[in-house]
Amino acid sequence: MSTKGTNAAISRRASALIALLSVLLASLGVAGTAVAATRGLGLHAPFSPPWWVLIPAFVIASNLSIDFEFRREARSVAFSELPLAVGVVFVAPWFVVLAFVLAVIFDSVVLRRQQPLKLLFNVSVAVLEAGSALLVLSLAGLGDTPDYRLWLALFVGLLIGEAIGQLAMTAVMHWLGVVVHRAQMLPPLVASAATTLVFTCLAIMAVTSVWTEPLTILVIAALAGLLTVAYRGYRRLSAQQQSISDLYAFVKDLGPMTVDDPSSTAVVDTIRALLHARFLTVAICDSSAGCWRYLHARDPDDPEPDTELYSALTEENEPARAAAMQGRTSVDADRMATPLVGSRGLVGILTVTERLGDVRDFDMGDLRLLETVATELATALERGQLLADLGRAATLDPLTGLPNLVEACSRLNDMIENSPHGVLVAAVAVDSFREVNDTLGHEVGDDLLLEVTRRLTVTSPDALVGRIGGGRFAVAVPVSTSGGDPEMFGLGIRAQVEGGAQLGAVGTHVRLSVGCVRAPEHGTDAATLMRRAETAMYGARHVHGGPVLWEPAYEVEGQRRLAVVTALREGLASGAIGLAFQPKIEVGTGRVTGVEALARWTHPALGAIRPDEFIPLAEASGLMGPLTSTVLRQALTACKGWQRRAPGAGVAVNVSADTVLDQAFVTEVAAILTSVGISPELLTLELTEGVVVADPGLASERMGELRSLGVKISVDDFGTGYSSLTYLKGLPVDEVKIDKGFVDGLVSESADRAVIRAVVDIAHTLGLRVVAEGVEHEEQDALLAQLGVDEVQGYLHGRPMAALDMAAWLRKRETARR
Ligand code: C2E
Ligand code: CA
Ligand code: CA
Repeated sequence: MSTKGTNAAISRRASALIALLSVLLASLGVAGTAVAATRGLGLHAPFSPPWWVLIPAFVIASNLSIDFEFRREARSVAFSELPLAVGVVFVAPWFVVLAFVLAVIFDSVVLRRQQPLKLLFNVSVAVLEAGSALLVLSLAGLGDTPDYRLWLALFVGLLIGEAIGQLAMTAVMHWLGVVVHRAQMLPPLVASAATTLVFTCLAIMAVTSVWTEPLTILVIAALAGLLTVAYRGYRRLSAQQQSISDLYAFVKDLGPMTVDDPSSTAVVDTIRALLHARFLTVAICDSSAGCWRYLHARDPDDPEPDTELYSALTEENEPARAAAMQGRTSVDADRMATPLVGSRGLVGILTVTERLGDVRDFDMGDLRLLETVATELATALERGQLLADLGRAATLDPLTGLPNLVEACSRLNDMIENSPHGVLVAAVAVDSFREVNDTLGHEVGDDLLLEVTRRLTVTSPDALVGRIGGGRFAVAVPVSTSGGDPEMFGLGIRAQVEGGAQLGAVGTHVRLSVGCVRAPEHGTDAATLMRRAETAMYGARHVHGGPVLWEPAYEVEGQRRLAVVTALREGLASGAIGLAFQPKIEVGTGRVTGVEALARWTHPALGAIRPDEFIPLAEASGLMGPLTSTVLRQALTACKGWQRRAPGAGVAVNVSADTVLDQAFVTEVAAILTSVGISPELLTLELTEGVVVADPGLASERMGELRSLGVKISVDDFGTGYSSLTYLKGLPVDEVKIDKGFVDGLVSESADRAVIRAVVDIAHTLGLRVVAEGVEHEEQDALLAQLGVDEVQGYLHGRPMAALDMAAWLRKRETARR
């Protein structure tokens, strides 16, 4: 029995102890031999061969060993006990010892080239084994001829020698620093008892047959030789079969594999075990990272620490790796390296070091196995890489390399799951991205995004940053690492990203809009959180970038808006939009000068919806055109109906800015007037100041065109927006409507009175009529009359009412006036 793997230089102390032990063993052996030589064995062999015949017998027998591997220990049972057992019977004791010692020396020095210390130890073990066998035989009181007593004595004597030899071996291993567990000591003892039993049986047979016929020794030797050869053949075959079935199992389970797979360590360890190697290294070319990455495996029984060892191995393996790089497989006694070649070229290099057990080194059989494994491993790695590449393409944004929306959501879900204290999510829009893209080109736009990506990703290492659309990003962090305040989080992002940026030759300023949410308060799944963060982000655009924290109201509003727009589209198509009419009264005379048409809409499910709600939505969703058309048509039709009752009482229709500025509107108004068959003077179009401010030139051009149809123009909500009395001068306008706000403050606020007075003065100077709206009280009415307002409109004189009610109201009023 011997061990391998202790290459460290043997310490002085260990050498001294081993030498001392060797001397002790040899002395015991010599003593035993001396006793045997003086007492004699009692056997009287019929002949005695020359003692030196034993030397070749010992040499041959010790090399006729059978091997087996037990865990990483290789066990080798030599046949030396056989010539020893036969020798002690036929040759004088001192000569048996001499022959054994000479054979060991020859074997150790010539055949195995062992160190002197090992030679000394082996010699002394030989002396001890021979001595103990001789001692027991001499003490056994044997008969003249070989019988069971001879067999028993041989068995006991050889076993004692073997046991002492093994104890000595254990001591030596201990001194050499090899850890020997108690559990590891028993199996070899049992094994040697078994082999000793076999050898003594063989020996007794040999002795009895040689006793009568010396030449039968040849037959026995031949038989032993044959058995050895047969056993070795069987061993090789079963080992091969084992490797083949292991290989098959390995290949069967081998799927696409990458370095990062948790399962890859198990795979490389299987390969290591398959190749009976102490160490294995797979160097993998990582094309995406542009470097080598390593997988290691080592024999689990190995006592040495990984890290140092692996770096040492990596160095030692360098020449073999270099060869593999060139596509060559190399093998030497304790190292094999082979390139892993896939269909697209080199994917890695597989290196194994030190064959387990010292029975044999790596040989051609191992090499073939290595190459087969390498082919399979290369395919698995290549497929793994291919899958990883495909996965990357589907999950990462190609420009920035950041996770895309889908991937960001899936990683956010993971983060939520692993963050017991919650997660902060920010949706970030690069405000100037569109402009940069449109005005400076896509390349500069890309540079801007890359710069933003760089600034976003230098935050905390556990932040998740994704690109979720054009110039939009998402950033998420666990609350535990961020403090948990969404406002601070959003401000932090802005502080980090905003500021000047040099994009090639172009300098620009990065500004963000940031919307924040917090899980679990604002949602527990990534999709909801992302959507809500984005809603808040859009809100942030109106408040200088925010950050804006999402509120449940956003969702309700958003849903309501969506429902209203959908319903409005249907309502317009089905004629569900109706009108209410509110009279305008001339101050002083009380005459009804006209009525204002106000859109009304009652939805079967949503109920009555106020114009303040649906008009802005109609404007935002492009429904203003059809809405104005239906209002115009209904208003003019109604107006025509009450002309008999109140001749000259016109109708005022509110028109939004976009509608007025659209040239088609002029044509449409003319067409409706014609189709209804009503005089254009009866129609007043109420526009807000905003129309004019946006594009004064165009506005005045359109207003001029409308006026030339014969239609009157009124400026609604006068005094609220960009109020400037001066711009009225150049405009084709007939009337101004003083906003309800001024009328409200009329009684209590002298400032409001002053405004109204100024408006009246200027308007009258320009030849415009002045209407006050929202008149609710007599007091207001009286004051307005005093201030010189021409007409009043408000709940005091008449609430907005349906067309039929309006007709009835007019009739009643006419009757009353007469
Ligand atoms: P507006 O043009 O200033 O219309 C006057 C609003 O004041 C109307 O509200 C009317 O009902 C209300 N009102 C009238 N007298 C009084 C009063 O004495 N007290 C109070 N508290 N309110 C009074 P309404 O009908 O809800 O319309 C709101 C706004 O919706 C209108 O403001 C107008 O800008 C817009 N709108 C209504 N119908 C149309 C339409 O057909 N087309 C367009 N483009 N806008 C419309
Ligand atoms: Ca109005
Ligand atoms: Ca108004």
